[in-house]
Amino acid sequence: MSGGPGLFERWRGRSTPAPVEPEPPPSVPAVGLQLWLDDSARVQRMAGPLRCALALPVHGDMRLQDCVQPYSLLVLEGEPMDWQAQPLDLDFKAAGGGTLHTRGWLLGQPGNWMLQLFDIGDLLQHRQQSMNAERQRHLTSHLAAELRDCSIERLGQVAQEQLQWLVRHWRASGVRILLQGEQGWQTYASSNGPVHWPTDEDIGRLLDRQVPGQMVSSIAHADLQVLIPQADTYLMPYAQGQIARAWLVCVGPLEALNAVDALNACAAYAEPLVSRLAAFELQQQSERLDSLQLQLGAGWWQWRCNESTLQVDPGLAASLGIPAQLTLGQWLSRVHPADREAAQLAFAELQREGCALHLSLRLLDHNLAANPRWFRLCGQVRGTGQQRRVQGFLIDISDIKAQQLQASAAQARLENLIASSPAVIYIQRYVEGALQSDFFSASLQPMLGWEPESSGSLQPGQWVHPDDQALWLARTRTLLREGQVRSRYRLCDRYGGYHWVLDEARLLRDDLGLPVEVVGIWLDVTEATEAAERMRESEERYRVLVEDSPAMICRYTPELNLVFGNQPLADYLECSTTQLAGMNLGQWLSSAQREAFVERVAGLTVEQPVSTAEICLELPGREHAWWVWSDRGLFDEQGRLLEVQAVGRDNTQVRRTQQQLMQSAKMATLGEMATGLAHEINQPLNVMRMAVVNALKRLENGEVQADYLQDKLKRIDAQVLRASRVVDHMRVFGRRSAIEQQLFEPWQAVEGALSLLAEGLRGKGVVLRVEAAAQQPKVKGHQDQLEQVLINLMVNARDALLTQREQQRELQPWIALRMEANEQQVRLLVEDNGGGIDPRLLERIFEPFFTTKPVGVGTGLGLSVSYGIIDAMGGCLSVDNGVEGARFCIELPVHSTS
Ligand code: ADP
Repeated sequence: MSGGPGLFERWRGRSTPAPVEPEPPPSVPAVGLQLWLDDSARVQRMAGPLRCALALPVHGDMRLQDCVQPYSLLVLEGEPMDWQAQPLDLDFKAAGGGTLHTRGWLLGQPGNWMLQLFDIGDLLQHRQQSMNAERQRHLTSHLAAELRDCSIERLGQVAQEQLQWLVRHWRASGVRILLQGEQGWQTYASSNGPVHWPTDEDIGRLLDRQVPGQMVSSIAHADLQVLIPQADTYLMPYAQGQIARAWLVCVGPLEALNAVDALNACAAYAEPLVSRLAAFELQQQSERLDSLQLQLGAGWWQWRCNESTLQVDPGLAASLGIPAQLTLGQWLSRVHPADREAAQLAFAELQREGCALHLSLRLLDHNLAANPRWFRLCGQVRGTGQQRRVQGFLIDISDIKAQQLQASAAQARLENLIASSPAVIYIQRYVEGALQSDFFSASLQPMLGWEPESSGSLQPGQWVHPDDQALWLARTRTLLREGQVRSRYRLCDRYGGYHWVLDEARLLRDDLGLPVEVVGIWLDVTEATEAAERMRESEERYRVLVEDSPAMICRYTPELNLVFGNQPLADYLECSTTQLAGMNLGQWLSSAQREAFVERVAGLTVEQPVSTAEICLELPGREHAWWVWSDRGLFDEQGRLLEVQAVGRDNTQVRRTQQQLMQSAKMATLGEMATGLAHEINQPLNVMRMAVVNALKRLENGEVQADYLQDKLKRIDAQVLRASRVVDHMRVFGRRSAIEQQLFEPWQAVEGALSLLAEGLRGKGVVLRVEAAAQQPKVKGHQDQLEQVLINLMVNARDALLTQREQQRELQPWIALRMEANEQQVRLLVEDNGGGIDPRLLERIFEPFFTTKPVGVGTGLGLSVSYGIIDAMGGCLSVDNGVEGARFCIELPVHSTS
């Protein structure tokens, strides 16, 4: 290929063989090489300087064909005669295995032929070099064009394709390109194929050992392989100035390549790649910067000190609504008046002193109604002389400023809160095992009268009440041991008074767990403590009151289980107060009483928490006891009954007296009815007598018939029955009432009353108008007592009627007895035409002992007892004047409709 020994052969350490010692020059000096041939091309003689370069010594039998390279035999076909008159290009085998390129002509001479040849090796080499240079130009321009013209997205792929192309072109095994990355030199692209590559790290270590400037220049003019000890691996730098920007690693025998070509190709490849990547990186950086500026509301500014104009980043200028280039005066006019002077002075100082500028200021928005925006203005002087300028940036800190304002407002509020809080916040520093006061909030002054500023030197221990000093010391010990404490003690104020404080303190430790300081709070709980004390005393008083009270006092659950009972209750129930707890009140009540009791307690509500009733108990070893019992319900937040507090009074004696009174009243009624009753009994007696007389008459006349006698005897029997019924009823009526109330139909009481009175009334000429109701519901109480009420009313009516008739002879007296009933109520109305009651007396007639009747006639008890009976049945007795006389109305609640 090349005339001289190739560069790469030298790199591979092949030494050039020593040239063959030339033969002594021929006697006829000549140029080039002359060969004399016979007709069969046998070499007869040689001459000329080139003959020394031939490989074979000339011997007698040697033919020209023996001296040339095999491919030159084509030129030497036939006899010498055939070769004349044309240029002959012959390549001779040269000494040392090389080739000697020659061109010449065959000249016919007498008896032989002379071949005149010249060395054309230089010419060929020159041509080869031009061709190589052409190829190289093509290669480099192709590489550069491909890499320059492709899109940035395809750059990586094109780089790889071009390496592939380079590999083919150089007939190498593989080529890869290394660029400076974040972690040093890194492969950017690599040709395909199985190649034994050194790693990036190895190459990086190799390159790091070089001083870049020296390395590049030395390599550019020296062996490409200098850095790689392995055979067939080459490193080619691409440098800008003295700095390597890329390295091409090539593996394979680069025999056909010289270092300059290789470095040129490397530069042609790497230059567009590096510059495009750098441009791309720059573009991205610029985009990132723009976006950053945009997001931060920031931008640069520049001010040339000897000019009056200020340059501002166009994006920022647009957002501020100012021109990108403006005078300092114009710019200052956009600064908020409050910050303008400071800005002006800062710029003046900057110009004068050249120190750095740091300023926070407000810039007015072009929309003047909007709030001014806060900016941080920074700048520093660069350059000197004509080039002296201030460069800096403006950054929008409105958000931070707003937060700062909020934070300082919050802090001010907090400080205000701490200062105005009724609690004192204090800090004690931990110094060598002791706690020293460091801070007291302003509320110390209103609370204890001490000034917070001067109190730093004061130790709270000095203010502690002498009786509480042990508590104070225990508080400090607990705090240091457990990290927190809650205690209560008295502190002396400035005026000598003591305050109860609730102290909540916490110990703060550092990273190592060592105590740093104590943060605590004092709450003035004097009032609460005193109130609690008063409460305790008051409770004590109440406890004494409850325990010593003659009334029965207890607390019980809604299930009637006693929680507490005082001594009087225990006495009644014949046990101790401790035994009372857990006992059930129901055990002393009859089932009906218990049912009524539970129902009453269940009816307690938050709105009506109190209920009073008279309850009847069956106490151990006693007759019935009557207690007036007052309950008060205690409820939870949801209004559920939790407990009942009750106060009771023994009413048995009163009850008995009442009963006796009732009985007396009853007896009095009976007495009053005596005439009527006599009439009532006389009537059947008369009938019987008549029957007996008539029967006897017939017997005497001897005209007695069995039928007649039977009829008379039946009549007598019926009258006996009638009389005995009246007497029976009188006996029943005269009995004491039963203890407990019962259910009964009220009409039965009406009938009972009528059975005792009807005949007597008729006998007096009083007409009875009786009207029953369709329904017969049941009421609760004592039938005999209702009967007594009705008798009272009817007897009173009778008396009024008889009195009236004395004045008014023509009066037709009547008493109307009417019953009305519905689901809820029964009404019994007793009306007469006896002239009524003086309206002035209406209110008084139910009073005990009120009577208008003459002494010895009226007792004045009838209506008052009647009122009590109806009231005990849960009903109401009322009176008004009707058209002709008084009208009494008994209203009773219905208990059962069946
Ligand atoms: P007493 O009948 O012994 O007087 P009461 O208590 O029964 O006692 O009655 C009180 C008074 O009420 C009577 O004295 C009478 O003046 C008046 N009174 C009661 N019933 C009537 C009536 N039907 N008409 C007029 N006055 C009546």
